[in-house]
Amino acid sequence: MAERKKTGFVPTMGALHAGHISLINKSTAENDFTVCSIFINPTQFNNAVDLQKYPVTIEKDIDLLEKAGCSLLFLPELTEMYPAGEQVTRYNLESLETILEGKYRPGHFQGVCRIVDKLLAAVTPDNLYLGRKDYQQCLVINKMIEEREHKVAVHICDTVREDDGLAMSSRNLRLTATERSKSVKIIAALRMIKENIQPGNLSELKNEARIFLEKNGFSVDYAEIADAETLELQDERMGNKKMVALVAAYLNDVRLIDNLIL
Ligand code: AMP
Repeated sequence: MAERKKTGFVPTMGALHAGHISLINKSTAENDFTVCSIFINPTQFNNAVDLQKYPVTIEKDIDLLEKAGCSLLFLPELTEMYPAGEQVTRYNLESLETILEGKYRPGHFQGVCRIVDKLLAAVTPDNLYLGRKDYQQCLVINKMIEEREHKVAVHICDTVREDDGLAMSSRNLRLTATERSKSVKIIAALRMIKENIQPGNLSELKNEARIFLEKNGFSVDYAEIADAETLELQDERMGNKKMVALVAAYLNDVRLIDNLIL
């Protein structure tokens, strides 16, 4: 009997860069078909200006996807994903919804789950490729997949960075030249945490990272250290539990996030 063909899926909001393409490359290497979706999902934006200013570069995106050997681009209309009058599913995300991104972007992860749930139902992939850059989102999507019993294997891919260390992001397109040069301080703060973490209390180290960013012109939502598996916030380092440092900070009105495994 012929072997069943495998489908890999990479959901995105477009304005594609080398980070997205690394997920496409992983998928094409491991599957017979690769589907990419581009959909700027309004339900995951808790800030109307952020949605309005989200970059759109569709011609360039199509070109990049063709060159990367993506088999199919799914480019749904708003009404296709959100038909009028549909009942809204609520996902049980427990504490993931109230900490870090959940705390500062109320409703964001419900919106992410809503769209990824629908996309998985439409594409029915064997493999789903997500970026570690959105660390908490990976945990949230895993939880939703479990709750909704989607039969898909999740693959978390490393963060692709610019040469100076800035994590690639569609929102980087919105940085001015001055903001772009300041933006490298995010990875500098994360590396500072990684290099200086010691057993015992972590408050001072987290505070130093926050002050360092503020001195460099950022308005900081959080500079935190969490359990790498559960994302439970950590005030003490005990034993050799795997931990992750996470930052979310604004340069003027552009919000950037990044993280580093410790
Ligand atoms: P987005 O278009 O920002 O919603 O991202 C779509 C997917 O690409 C998500 O799984 C992201 O985590 C992933 N992604 C975004 N930026 C990067 C990056 N710099 N490196 C690797 N994956 C990324």
